[in-house]
Amino acid sequence: MTSTEVLYSEFGWADPPEDMTAPLEGEITCDVAVVGGGYAGMATALRLAERGAEVVLLEAGFCGGGASSRNAGQLGSVPGGDPQLLSALHPRRFDGIVRLAEEAVDFTEKLIGRLGIDCEYERTGNVAAAVSPGQLRRAKKKAEIFQKAGVSVEFGDGRDLGLPDAFLGGMLEPVGGVMDPGKFALGLRKALLASQVKVFEQTPVKTVEPTSVGVVVAAPGGHVRAEKVVLATNAYSRELAIAPKRLAAPVWVSMVETGPIPSDRLDATGWTSRSGLATQHGIMESYRPTRRNTIVTGVRQLQAARGAVGARKPDPSVVSDITDGFRSRFPGLRDIAIKRAWGGWIAMTPSWLPVAGEATKNVSYLIACNGHGLAQAPYLGTLLADRLVDGRSPDDLDTVWRQRPRFAPALVFNAPVMRAMWAADRRADRKVS
Ligand SMILES: Cc1cc2nc3c(=O)[nH]c(=O)nc-3n(C[C@H](O)[C@H](O)[C@H](O)COP(=O)(O)OP(=O)(O)OC[C@H]3O[C@@H](n4cnc5c(N)ncnc54)[C@H](O)[C@@H]3O)c2cc1C
Repeated sequence: MTSTEVLYSEFGWADPPEDMTAPLEGEITCDVAVVGGGYAGMATALRLAERGAEVVLLEAGFCGGGASSRNAGQLGSVPGGDPQLLSALHPRRFDGIVRLAEEAVDFTEKLIGRLGIDCEYERTGNVAAAVSPGQLRRAKKKAEIFQKAGVSVEFGDGRDLGLPDAFLGGMLEPVGGVMDPGKFALGLRKALLASQVKVFEQTPVKTVEPTSVGVVVAAPGGHVRAEKVVLATNAYSRELAIAPKRLAAPVWVSMVETGPIPSDRLDATGWTSRSGLATQHGIMESYRPTRRNTIVTGVRQLQAARGAVGARKPDPSVVSDITDGFRSRFPGLRDIAIKRAWGGWIAMTPSWLPVAGEATKNVSYLIACNGHGLAQAPYLGTLLADRLVDGRSPDDLDTVWRQRPRFAPALVFNAPVMRAMWAADRRADRKVS
């Protein structure tokens, strides 16, 4: 199979809907304007409306069209990043961060149920999985740290955890699972459109300016005058001058999907648990089965943003590298074709934590990504809405709240470092094979 036979898609799990709402025209006023319609912005707006606020949501493309419909769909219950590093860097906050991550899954599962979203959610759990003895030791250490912090993770070998044959074992997070994230995003969008929130898609916000009579949010066709504004702009945040400098580094991540795999051949891989998997490389590989009997796999390489963060398709060389990874982890499926490739922008924060705070008076921001926003973004968006209404942060929001909008440079997320990490991973793979 050559990479030319792969469909390179501009979108992920969801295409632009036919009922896209019209762009903003003229001037309107409201209590709160939310900029960005991903999981974070949609959940913030929905909650604010539930609590009686007049809300306007402005989205550059379609609601859910960003990372929210491009991700791997693994609803994970532990924080992203290396827990050893996180607990060393944030010793006082670590237990709170761990609690937040688990609460976020519970919240998201209930949200799916409450809104009746059919997103093919399977409570399979997810596994920090090892493909070498070194990775197995790393997974064991992770499990010990999380267990000490009170999380119900388990360490086990590949057979006990129902993993595909090439995976030696790992740390199971039994809470959470896998879903179709595009269906989840479009389900949230449907609830949003049915709510009191005024939604303007195809409306890229250009400036957000506090004035003596409210905050003015300007887009090409008009503007909104709001008492408060929430920036839920994720990896695109740096395009807005009002967003804190160095809030997050945008990193491009690619995903690929195989064609359908006959059930007996999928069973023969030994993947009885159907859990989502993430390897313990410096830059992980992710694998998950879908309800359409395909496997979605990705990451392996991270690419830094050059210039504006905009529409993009994956590079064929990266798709070919991800395909190599798939074939080495699933040797029995080497003949299965890769059908589709897409990618998305992830926002990596310098602290590896979700962050929220005020960019300036009456303008809040929220970034819940680092590859773990499927649960954390809707949860924190909802908590941020409660803070705006009640005037105080719920505990889990307080854990990630920044008193000042100052951020250190993200040293890791630049092209040479990310290339070096990829090369080190491949050297380690060669040693094992
Ligand atoms: C390839 C990939 C794999 C991932 N895998 C996982 C996973 O398995 N599990 C997990 O938990 N997380 C995963 N993530 C991360 C997860 O998708 C994100 O954390 C989550 O979607 C973030 O939601 P969000 O609402 O903050 O951002 P987004 O969904 O990116 O939404 C931001 C929105 O803001 C809009 N916007 C930005 N600027 C403006 C502006 N100026 N004016 C108007 N609108 C604007 C954008 O158009 C976009 O729709 C992955 C991400 C990617 C890209």
